[in-house]
Amino acid sequence: MNKHPKKEKTFVAVKPDGIQRSLIGEMISRLEKVGLKLVAMKMLVADEDHIEKFYTLNPEWRRVTGEKTIAGYKSKGLKPPIEDPFEVTAIILENLKKYMASGPVIIMVWEGAHAVAIVRKLVGATEPLVSDVGSIRGDFVLDSYSMSDTDKRSVRNLIHASGSTEEAEKEIKHWFKPEEIINYRLVSEEILYDVNLDGILE
Ligand code: ATP
Ligand code: MG
Repeated sequence: MNKHPKKEKTFVAVKPDGIQRSLIGEMISRLEKVGLKLVAMKMLVADEDHIEKFYTLNPEWRRVTGEKTIAGYKSKGLKPPIEDPFEVTAIILENLKKYMASGPVIIMVWEGAHAVAIVRKLVGATEPLVSDVGSIRGDFVLDSYSMSDTDKRSVRNLIHASGSTEEAEKEIKHWFKPEEIINYRLVSEEILYDVNLDGILE
């Protein structure tokens, strides 16, 4: 039997800049308010090796990230500094490892209907310059690829969220042991998911 959609899980990390900017509560609050359930959480300092493995769990990530960056330049009428997506990603990954290992991160698993897509929508596009207003990256940070590239660093965008359910499954396994993910009920799930709302009226 297929799992109920409300059981979908996604992996989220408050990146080191999110913690430094005092946005932990704000970010968690947004995910809570949409109706998602926090089922695992810890704070840690990750090492660079673990971060490289994490970002390359998806074999397509190197190509896609390079292509996305090149397209980002072109959409603004700018010439990308390098045309080969894999070369672009090699540089991004080196900077990303330094960024993600620069301080503590908070890693979490959130559960609920369409958890992956809902969290990506709340998080917004990768490059804060073009992330939608109302999204976490659009509302709380002002970085861009051109500025981060000039300064030879990773773009600082506060938060990570899984890009697909397959990615989420791998990412959760990468950071959490199965017993660290807690199965429990939230009373608010009744109003979100129950077919009958018997018992509200007295
Ligand atoms: P994340 O995986 O962190 O949720 P994302 O899926 O929106 O973000 P990816 O394409 O997976 O973005 O890139 C991972 C991270 O690498 C980005 O969040 C950003 O911090 C950094 N990054 C990606 N592309 C660039 C770039 N062109 N220049 C600088 N940093 C980049
Ligand atoms: Mg990603």
